[in-house]
Amino acid sequence: MRDTITFDDVLLVPQYSEIISRKSIDISNKLSPNIVLDLPIIAAPMDTVTNSHIINVLNSLGATGVLHRYNTPYEQTMHIKRINGLKSAAIGVTGDYLKRAIALVEAGVEVLCVDVAHGHHALVRHALKTLRNTFGYDLHIMAGNVATLKAFNDLSDWGADSIRVGIGGGSICSTRIQTGHGVPTLQSVIDCSVSDRPAKLIADGGIKSSGDMVKALAAGADFVMAGSLLAGSLESPGEIIHIKDVAYKKYRGMASVEAQIDWRGHSASIEGVSHMVPYKGGVKKILNELEAGIRSGFSYTGALNIVEFQSKSRLIKQSSAGLYESRTHIKDRF
Ligand code: IMP
Repeated sequence: MRDTITFDDVLLVPQYSEIISRKSIDISNKLSPNIVLDLPIIAAPMDTVTNSHIINVLNSLGATGVLHRYNTPYEQTMHIKRINGLKSAAIGVTGDYLKRAIALVEAGVEVLCVDVAHGHHALVRHALKTLRNTFGYDLHIMAGNVATLKAFNDLSDWGADSIRVGIGGGSICSTRIQTGHGVPTLQSVIDCSVSDRPAKLIADGGIKSSGDMVKALAAGADFVMAGSLLAGSLESPGEIIHIKDVAYKKYRGMASVEAQIDWRGHSASIEGVSHMVPYKGGVKKILNELEAGIRSGFSYTGALNIVEFQSKSRLIKQSSAGLYESRTHIKDRF
């Protein structure tokens, strides 16, 4: 049986650097020849994370988000029309998915995301073929999620331009408990990063900090996807809830009982939970902190851009004592 690792199992070795200012570091990356993100962060297509409001702010900061699909095609296209800059939206692979895709493309969508829990599936192959036959190759198609190199290569061969990598690692996810299946997210990223296919790699699920983002990029991700890190923002959908003077927002897995009942009237195969996350204020502040952490991360490796960073960075394993030391631990002592 092989050993696998994830974010907390590794660290990046600091290296000689000549970088004077973190501002001189370019952390941008290309999703496709004409789509560049200055900040390689993409908000997850979930109904407590994305709407047109947060995507507009993310776009203005150089990141972006994928509009979720848990609404009517009319509601989704209305949101898409309100987005300035990069317009991305999720679709499924059954039911009205093609009609929805056509409506979204007519509304100006530039990135369609085929969004299913188990992406290495015949229905995804069929959907990608149908979408390519309908829209040709100009439209960027993201697909996922996958956990293995074989799946990554297959989705690329089936027509995906970018692929979400990570199964069972999301903070609100119970897939591994419910089904026994999954691969630690960083391991999937490492495995898929050796692909010789052109598809871009989006690390998705379990990213808790800018440090995890830096590790994902070092492991070969081109972009990172974030759910929990953005769900507590002012702009994400949902009310601010006060419990004993502390402000929260709701964050829920799209396969949680609550989300399933809301979007399809019943629940089956529950693979997610609903949870309160601390309210963090405007998403600009959250993104600024994540950006500062990524810039600093590149600086510790002495890298001026993502290509240099991926070739220079060196991941090492840490022990549980190492992880304990990595976290602030003063509170345990005094
Ligand atoms: P987070 O950034 O760790 O909170 O994870 C977000 C990711 O979890 C999303 O981008 C999806 O890939 C995944 N996800 C969303 N809803 C569910 C669910 O209900 N079950 C399992 N995974 C989910």
